[in-house]
Amino acid sequence: MTSTVFQSELRTGLAAVRQAAIACRSVQSGITPDALAKKDKSPVTVADFASQAIVCRQLGIDFPNDPVIGEEGAAELRSPEGAEFLSQVVHECVGTGIAATSHQICDWIDRGNLQEYRPRFWTLDPIDGTKGFLRNEQYAISLALIVEGEIELGILGCPNVPFTTDDQDKPRGTLAWAIRGQGAWAAPMDDSATTAVRMKVSGRTDFSRVRFCESVESGHSSHDWSGMIAEKLGISAEPVRMDSQCKYLAIARGQAEIYLRLPTRKGYQEKIWDHAGGICVVREAGGTVTDIHGNTPDFSRGATLSDNVGMVVTGGPDHDRVVEAVTASAPE
Ligand code: AMP
Ligand code: MG
Repeated sequence: MTSTVFQSELRTGLAAVRQAAIACRSVQSGITPDALAKKDKSPVTVADFASQAIVCRQLGIDFPNDPVIGEEGAAELRSPEGAEFLSQVVHECVGTGIAATSHQICDWIDRGNLQEYRPRFWTLDPIDGTKGFLRNEQYAISLALIVEGEIELGILGCPNVPFTTDDQDKPRGTLAWAIRGQGAWAAPMDDSATTAVRMKVSGRTDFSRVRFCESVESGHSSHDWSGMIAEKLGISAEPVRMDSQCKYLAIARGQAEIYLRLPTRKGYQEKIWDHAGGICVVREAGGTVTDIHGNTPDFSRGATLSDNVGMVVTGGPDHDRVVEAVTASAPE
């Protein structure tokens, strides 16, 4: 029997993430080499706000009682300095078919401004991997529904990830999702007619053939530490460095076996929107996710994973061995 639990939430979430991706792509395609060279952050600012406005608008229509813990708030946009950004955000929303006033846009964004825990809430990263977005590389729109501290639904919109690796001529873009207990699925982002495929982790056990991934940014995850872990485990392949929760997708699809997120400084608290969508997808594909101490991430603490440190994600049966290697190589 096909379960119908959370199906309407899934439909809403997928439609919202697809629509947000249209805005993100429109903005990313306009990043000029000049803006890239100047490290101009304004494109990602516009896309980030547009994406959060679009997703929160849809959630507000279909689930008006559900709060959203999102990464952004509209305070900056409402200020006089934000006026230019705001008009660009309005423009991008119109481009996806949403006609709205500046006021409405700010109100939608602020629907996602909650920071405290609730018995039922959504969490949203409108653009995860902002650095990747600006480099014209990988980024993700990540949305999840959390009920009583459990991630029940996770969606990852990955506009630059090819759905199939065999046909490079096909347009890029992969949409991945999972409902707890109902498996993990993926489909091409722009083709809702294509039947979704079920995702499965690789299950590869031979560490000499294991592939691991980590952040491009060494400030987000320690590359030195992961190097020591790889050596300890006998992993010979170079790490695959990728921005955003596209790393979770890589594990879920069996393109890599280990994703390490190792703190670069004491006291950094991981944000729930950087993980919830990805964790749900990986777990339902058969993978395991803990923090670096082997503890299950606790999504009942509000906006941060304050009881956890870093993250260890595996798609093989040797999760405990990876956590042991993390501990054994930990810097002083
Ligand atoms: P990634 O694309 O894997 O580099 O991760 C991007 C995310 O890293 C952003 O969404 C930030 O929320 C998060 N981040 C920012 N600073 C840090 C930090 N010091 N340690 C870990 N993650 C961070
Ligand atoms: Mg993020």
